[in-house]
Amino acid sequence: MEQAQALKAFLDQPRRIVVTTHHKPDADALGSSLGLAGYLKKKGHQVQVITPSDYPNFLSWMPGNEEVIAYEPAKAALVANKIKEAEIIFCLDFSALSRIYDMADMVRQASAKKVMIDHHLEPEDFAEFVQWNVNAASTAQLVYQLIIEFGERAIIDTDIASCLYAGLMTDTGGFRHSNTHHEEFLIASDLVSLGANPSRISKLVYETNTLERLRLTGFVLSEKLVVLPEYKTAYITLTDEELRRFSSQTGDTEGLVNYGLSIQGIKMAAFIYKRKEDVKLSFRSLGSFSVSDLSRAHFEGGGHKNAAGGQSKLSLEETIQKFLKLLPTYKEQLNAID
Ligand code: 5GP
Ligand code: MN
Repeated sequence: MEQAQALKAFLDQPRRIVVTTHHKPDADALGSSLGLAGYLKKKGHQVQVITPSDYPNFLSWMPGNEEVIAYEPAKAALVANKIKEAEIIFCLDFSALSRIYDMADMVRQASAKKVMIDHHLEPEDFAEFVQWNVNAASTAQLVYQLIIEFGERAIIDTDIASCLYAGLMTDTGGFRHSNTHHEEFLIASDLVSLGANPSRISKLVYETNTLERLRLTGFVLSEKLVVLPEYKTAYITLTDEELRRFSSQTGDTEGLVNYGLSIQGIKMAAFIYKRKEDVKLSFRSLGSFSVSDLSRAHFEGGGHKNAAGGQSKLSLEETIQKFLKLLPTYKEQLNAID
């Protein structure tokens, strides 16, 4: 509360603001950023949203998308300049600067005040203002709560509400995951009363496929899903050749990991695939088993207890072998979950 009021006081005059979020933004990362940016713009600030990479096409409907700068090496000077000039930088949906890759040093060294709004486990300490709540299902709802704490609900219009609703909807898995509480429904309900359209947003995010993406899903389910009953684990791997074969675009693999977890009796699912120079891992689990701990301990990653990610500098095959060799260590824990 005190922090929120200090932040509000800082925002009492027009500021040059950068809003950023994690690499390969998902709907919560982008939705919370564009929702906040929409609010700040209406307050008269000069706002630039910068993402550390591109993001899926199914998010490009979000109001404000056309003004986003998606970092790529060719834009390094432009991005460095925006960050250097900013008076305040909002860091949304991540809490370790390593998650913004090439932009990490720029933000670390910037003279701007830094704000972290996030819900991931074990945050780093790099921001002056922190709105962090690990019990919140989404960063989007933390942005909503901040605007409410500022006493400015009336500023939330249909565009802002839609971006925030999209973040809340996806980070709860469409209001299905165990992070969906009474509070999440109350906030979703208020966002709908402020103009968010649930069926439209769900259609835009969940049911806007390319044929190639559906074919890739079919291939994964029929050929690439491996089940290890002994470890209550299912995993999927994809090589760069396989991704190319299906003309895979950013976002096409999102959600694949959940198929493994939907199999009866499975408590942990992994998805391991080649992404540019390194190998990316996605983990999901049920109940007490923390994939965030697993990912932090072995794959330079982290996230939430039941949804986490990480990476590996080993080859794809070596990473898969590393993952498989770890399973006996976790066998007892995995078999203890009811
Ligand atoms: P996903 O598997 O969908 O990429 O990520 C699942 C969750 O883990 C998300 O909340 C995401 O922000 C987080 N996450 C993904 N990759 C990483 C990572 O490399 N490090 C950390 N700390 N969190 C990650
Ligand atoms: Mn999130």
